[in-house]
Amino acid sequence: MLNLVIFGPPGAGKGTQSDKLIAKYQLCHLSTGDMFRLHIKNDTALGLKVKQILADGMLVPDSITIEMLEEEVQKNPEAKGYIFDGFPRTVPQAEALDAFLAGKGQKIDLVLQLDVDQEAIEKRIAKRQEESGRPDDSADKLLKRIDEYFSKTIHVLPYYEGQGKVTKVNGIGEIETIFTNICAAIDAV
Ligand code: AMP
Repeated sequence: MLNLVIFGPPGAGKGTQSDKLIAKYQLCHLSTGDMFRLHIKNDTALGLKVKQILADGMLVPDSITIEMLEEEVQKNPEAKGYIFDGFPRTVPQAEALDAFLAGKGQKIDLVLQLDVDQEAIEKRIAKRQEESGRPDDSADKLLKRIDEYFSKTIHVLPYYEGQGKVTKVNGIGEIETIFTNICAAIDAV
């Protein structure tokens, strides 16, 4: 069992690197952002509840997010491990995840921090917006999301540092080089 948290600001490359990790380690990818977008696309009750929150670049309340994430884990009991992408984004989410995994006799093995500076993120997101047209990637929403990251999400790092689980990987450069460094961190666990 290998449970990873992939951590970094919007545009750090979490999705790209997660796709490569799934292929190599056969992990189950759990992206709360993808889950919310699917709910919105399918017009579910949850989707309607969170639509405006995502459009505004704000964080969805912890209780909603935690419940959705735990349900997804329960739907994939055969997984060899999970990549948590975009979750946890707050300390209460991290605490809830630890308690939830402990109840299953599991734990987070590694937190991969993709280290990317703000200027690089903004360039990447501008490019992604051209390609995918994600409505929450517009300039002001991007600022809001980056602000949410630096005001709330960043506090999750000391939580995991206290557990000795964080490995920092330079997120700038070639995708393959970054991936090689991530794999080295995983193989060292
Ligand atoms: P992402 O694709 O991970 O950038 O997430 C897109 C949006 O979904 C975020 O800007 C939030 O509105 C919402 N979201 C995703 N994950 C979480 C989370 N763990 N806690 C709260 N809101 C989240």
